[in-house]
Formats: sequence, C-alpha cells, structure tokens
Amino acid sequence: MKTVIINVIVVTMNEAREIHNPGFVMFENDTILATGPMELLPKEAEDSRIHFIDGKNGILMPGMVNIHTHMGMIPFRGLGDDCKDRLRVFLLPMEQKAMDRELVYLSTRYAAGEMLLSGVTSVLDMYYYEEEAARAMDEMGMRGIAGQTIMDEGACDFSDPYEAIAYGERLIKKYESHPRITACVAPHGTSTCSGEVLQAAYRIDSSYRVPFTIHTAEMEYEMEYFRKDYGMTPVQYLESIGVLGEMTLAAHCIHMTEEDILLLKEKGSKVAHCIGSNTKAAKGVAPVTAMLGHEIPVGLGTDGPASGNTLDILTQMKLCADFHKNETKDRSAFPAETIVSLATIKGAKAMGIDRVTGSLEPGKQADMVLVETGSANMFPVYDPYSSLVYSANASNVEAVYVAGECLVKNKKLVNVELKELRDSLIQKMKKTEFRKHMDFYK
Ligand SMILES: [Zn+2]
Repeated sequence: MKTVIINVIVVTMNEAREIHNPGFVMFENDTILATGPMELLPKEAEDSRIHFIDGKNGILMPGMVNIHTHMGMIPFRGLGDDCKDRLRVFLLPMEQKAMDRELVYLSTRYAAGEMLLSGVTSVLDMYYYEEEAARAMDEMGMRGIAGQTIMDEGACDFSDPYEAIAYGERLIKKYESHPRITACVAPHGTSTCSGEVLQAAYRIDSSYRVPFTIHTAEMEYEMEYFRKDYGMTPVQYLESIGVLGEMTLAAHCIHMTEEDILLLKEKGSKVAHCIGSNTKAAKGVAPVTAMLGHEIPVGLGTDGPASGNTLDILTQMKLCADFHKNETKDRSAFPAETIVSLATIKGAKAMGIDRVTGSLEPGKQADMVLVETGSANMFPVYDPYSSLVYSANASNVEAVYVAGECLVKNKKLVNVELKELRDSLIQKMKKTEFRKHMDFYK
C-alpha cells in the first residue's frame, strides 16, 4: 500500500540539498516513490486507497546513521564514569567475567530500541558474539552491520583471533542476501591486533565488500607505541601493512598529522567521528574540518554506551557544533547543514550503504525520522538544519521508519515495549557480575 506523509518540512539531504517546506514523501512497501513540495503532490494521491499521515509541521529527515558503537555494552553505561583508567579497572575484567551470548543479545535489543527512539535507523556495531547482535538488530527492524571484534589476546567469545575471524566470515555469509543486515570482521585496534591478524581480517572484508572497521589513532599509548617501535603513526602503519583502502573505516582518528589525512584521502578510506566519547575521555578533538576539506567521507558515531553514555546522533550533532566551533575559535565553522550531512548521507557513505539510505530520494529505502516541532524547545523553526542541530534532542523524535516499516509512533516503540527490553536485560544482568553494582534494581 502507498503511504504519503504530508505537511512536513522535508530535509532530503539529496545532492542539491533540497528542502520542501511544506512538503511530502510518498512511499510504497520499503521504497520511496516521490518527494516534493505539497503543491506537487501527485494526482494519484487523491486515490482513497492511499494512506495519509499528517506530519503536523514536523521535520522529516533521513534516518540517522550511527557508524561506530558497541551495542552489547549497555550494562557498562555509567560504570566508572570518572575513573582515570576505566578500561582496565572496570571494562576488561567485567567483560571477561560477565559477557556471554545472552547478555549481548539482550543488550543489543535494548540498544536498538534506544537508538530507534532517538531516530537512528542504521548502525555499525562492533563487539563480541555478533551473531546475537545481528539477530537482535534484525528482530528490532533496524538496518545494521554486525562487526565481529577480534583481539590478539582473546576476548570473552574467542581466545584465538583466527577463530574469531572465521566466525566473522561465517556471519558475513549468513547475512549476504539479507535486505537490512550485513556483517564484517572488525579488528579491535591498531595495537591490539598483530599485522598478520589485521591483514587476514582485511582480506575477508575486502573480498565481501564490507567495512574493515578499527579503532585508529585514538589513544596516547597507541601513538607512543607506533612512534617508538615503528617510527610511524598508526595510519602510516596501516598503510605499510596494506590494510588502508576504500573498505577501511577508521574510528576516532583524533591524533592525525596532515600526512595521515592525505593518506586516508589517497586510499579512499573513511572516518567515524566520535566527538562525545572523545571529549568525555579527554582525548581531544579529531581534525574533522581538515578531513572534510579533503572530501574524506566522515560520519558520526556515539561509540559504546560506556564511552559516551548516549547512543543518539542528535546529541553528537550538537557536540560536534560546540567543540569544533570552540576549537577553531570560529562561530561560522562547521555549519549545521554540514553536521546534518555527517549524521545522514555522509555517514551512510562511510558505512558503504549510501545507495540505499542516507537521503530521501525516489528509489531509496524509506528510512525516515519525523522530528516534531510542537515542543517548547522547537519553536520557532527558521532553518530546519539549525533546528535539528542546535535545538532538537532525542525526545523530539515522533516517528521512525526503517524500510517503510513504522517502528516508532507517538514517541513509542511500535513492536515491543521499552519496559520489556529493559526488564529482560535487568534480569540477565542480575545473574552476572553486574549484580554487585545493582542495589538500585533490587
Ligand atoms: Zn569504540
């Protein structure tokens, strides 16, 4: 059945960056058929069999894209937030003791619900037991890539990195023809995997044309390690072992030289910018303005819920504006339209899914977010880009569609109750090491 959403400000994010105000979007099943100003609503729209939805002057934008996160880490949110060495004190020991298939599944389901409620429709996840993550994302109706994380020293799921790589490849094959879910092999970091492991993972990702995503130039100790042992930056190292290419999606890229940026451009590599995670951990601000100046595809990532505490891209958009303007001492730097493009079409490009999502155009998947403008913080609207970046927050997300299916309506999940997602996760967490920190949930 055809559906038309009318009386909305349509932020298309197409090549010409058209805005239709007021406008409409017509879609059928999973595909967008037409979009334009209200006066150009096709005659066939008068057909009584067409389903009309009044957008009530909200802003209709493409579904947002979160290109770097760890959905299985919901239980870690808020644990050791202001601890200097949170990674070694809390994360790694707890992960070894508590993380299993079921916890990843339940955590990813919750994370998917949380993201959908904030308007994120596509996600690149990176964690362990990713078969469970893929299943959870699929059941929740999201579009996503399940990145099986590999570490030399082993992790909670596999002690041998090559076994983890083989599992990742099986997962890629399993989802090869799925309409929304894909998988990839996602090595943990430049210094936590050997060159051979990185090369083996890269070969698989390249052959299946899925992202080779990896934490890069994020940590001070990582920079020091490559400086001392190789006389290189992490980016130069990746290039030297032949794993910097167009399938490479480097997460963070905080500590970058001009040569590093040129190398990314030359190789066609992409970047996940995680401003909330980076600044909360006092790691610095990635030189994204320079990367965009070289037309490197950059998208936004929240990083895991333990790092930035939020999985919503609207928060990242605001932080992006705040930190980059402050960093460059330029009020006009990093304008709102550019930031919305990172959250949508450029993020989709960095993830390799821009042919199907990231903009509202005929032929693309109907991945859409309706941001209401009736709340106190959303008045007045003069420029929708500005309203989305500087005024909106996740609580303004009214409705969300993925592949034409309405997954959020009236600010609530359609197919499942958030309470059910939370309760099942709490019950599971109580059976693990997390119970020691859960007095509040007795
Ligand atoms: Zn990360």
